[in-house]
Amino acid sequence: MPDTETDIVIVGAGASGCVVAGYLAEHTDARITLLEAGGADKDPFIKIPAGYAKLLEHDRHVWKYDTVPQYGTARPYRSGKVMGGGSSVNALCYVRGQPRDYDEWNEAVGGEEDWSYAEMLRHFIAQECSDTFHNAYHGADGDMKIELTRHINPLNRLCVKAFQEYGLPYNVDYNGESQIGVSPVQTNIEAGRRCSAVDAYLRRHLQSGRVKAVTGITVTRVLIREGQAYGVEYLAGGRSHRVLARQVVLSAGAVQSPKILMHSGVGPREQLNAFGIPVKVEAPEVGENLQDHPICCVRTYVRGKLGYQDICGGLGAAKAGLRYLLTRDGPIAGNGIETVSHWNPQDFTADPTVQCYHVPVISEDGLIPTGKRPGVTLEVVLLRPRSRGWVRLADANPDSMPLINPNFMEDEQDLRDAVAAIRAARSVMAQDALAQVTEEELAPGAAIQSDEEIAQWIRKVVNTMWHPVGTCRMGRDDRAVVDARLRVKGVENLRVIDASIMPNIVSANTNAPCQALARKGAIMLAEDYDARQN
Ligand SMILES: Cc1cc2nc3c(=O)[nH]c(=O)nc-3n(C[C@H](O)[C@H](O)[C@H](O)COP(=O)(O)OP(=O)(O)OC[C@H]3O[C@@H](n4cnc5c(N)ncnc54)[C@H](O)[C@@H]3O)c2cc1C
Repeated sequence: MPDTETDIVIVGAGASGCVVAGYLAEHTDARITLLEAGGADKDPFIKIPAGYAKLLEHDRHVWKYDTVPQYGTARPYRSGKVMGGGSSVNALCYVRGQPRDYDEWNEAVGGEEDWSYAEMLRHFIAQECSDTFHNAYHGADGDMKIELTRHINPLNRLCVKAFQEYGLPYNVDYNGESQIGVSPVQTNIEAGRRCSAVDAYLRRHLQSGRVKAVTGITVTRVLIREGQAYGVEYLAGGRSHRVLARQVVLSAGAVQSPKILMHSGVGPREQLNAFGIPVKVEAPEVGENLQDHPICCVRTYVRGKLGYQDICGGLGAAKAGLRYLLTRDGPIAGNGIETVSHWNPQDFTADPTVQCYHVPVISEDGLIPTGKRPGVTLEVVLLRPRSRGWVRLADANPDSMPLINPNFMEDEQDLRDAVAAIRAARSVMAQDALAQVTEEELAPGAAIQSDEEIAQWIRKVVNTMWHPVGTCRMGRDDRAVVDARLRVKGVENLRVIDASIMPNIVSANTNAPCQALARKGAIMLAEDYDARQN
């Protein structure tokens, strides 16, 4: 098969890759090719907001990773593998985080570029089309449709009350002046349909032919000669092919971008040597610095028919499905997670350290309903974990799954914070509003009471909130993988623009932050690309 040629090749059509492709299509005259390992986003369950539970239950459109054993057992570690990547399979919660998250990014680059909160807010606003908020924190003219949840089911209303009884204020907008409080969820939904990164930024450019997307192909490495990237190699139909390009962008996510770099000869010397990969650039932190939000769920049964258990199967599900088809309305027109709280258990006025979605069913992982009895799940998530893990190569085969070690709770302070957060969630469950409807606690369970027992339980159940970041860290220091303009250090014409570049994880779900950083990355790429043409 002959090589194909383009100006800019982007690897991965996920949350970030779609932003980059869309921006370049609008602001440069470059030929743009987008390579995606997954398929087209035609599955109706992608479009139905509550459909993600079905996608995840059946492992459809995802990379089926597992972690290396954490306290003796591997944990499932999925990410999107379809046009739109995570933005097509995720739980649609729209959260940006706290100003200090981005101000810390800015410190990491030491003034070489502006990555401050004030700067990132510009990008969030430019991308957003909010159906509710029109003020200094929000945009109404962007392409990413955001809806404020309006229908809040009775069980979630009790959660909102219980959190207020516990002492948290009601905060209608956690993406506004302050994140603190109990709030309705903001979602990537418009009129009962998911708004993925493909919908927001890319589809029109695919239809016009401005961006050429190739799906179902797995990029194995970046082609590098004399310190310059000049294309990528990919596998399709069991054979290897090449796309030659002037600029290469890796937007394959925090697991695959470092893996592709290592197979290209950019990574820690000892790892590359171990698998016979010639070292092109020694980059010790490629794959290191993995950060993720650890989650543990407090689950309690409730009386009566409260919550969404009755629409999880059988006649209830059929009725909800029919209602959705006829009216685009009802519970499955939303993401099923209608309220959330952000707080610091030590000090309700301080920046939140815990996020807690209130899920109106019993759910093991906070996303997929389990069991048959009605209940409520409080998803307890540490927003600023200190533990650091890694992504490393399993072998020399570029088609193999990498090894993933999130190192959950490796830092003792994380474990102490998680114990305190579980105690706090139990206190919320004990407030009058919820106590009047709850029955026995399923997890952690009545037998688990002391700090040591809770800590043991946390080690057993802790899993990912699906937010891996940091494996191609941006920074000014020599060990950082990319510089402040997201250029891979030591290789010209090669950038990483995705969750991997975050120096520290944001206090938020990571879809919107990835899209915002991708917009900034695309602007810088367009500037550099134009400068070279002139
Ligand atoms: C189950 C789940 C629920 C989530 N819920 C939320 C939520 O409610 N709110 C929120 O804000 N965030 C959520 N997230 C996280 C969010 O979706 C991700 O942080 C975000 O999508 C990451 O963006 P990215 O561009 O870095 O990578 P991705 O969106 O993962 O995109 C990477 C793309 O690259 C492709 N790719 C990878 N390797 C290759 C290769 N070798 N060759 C070609 N293509 C390749 C992938 O198939 C994928 O399409 C969730 C994630 C998951 C998995």
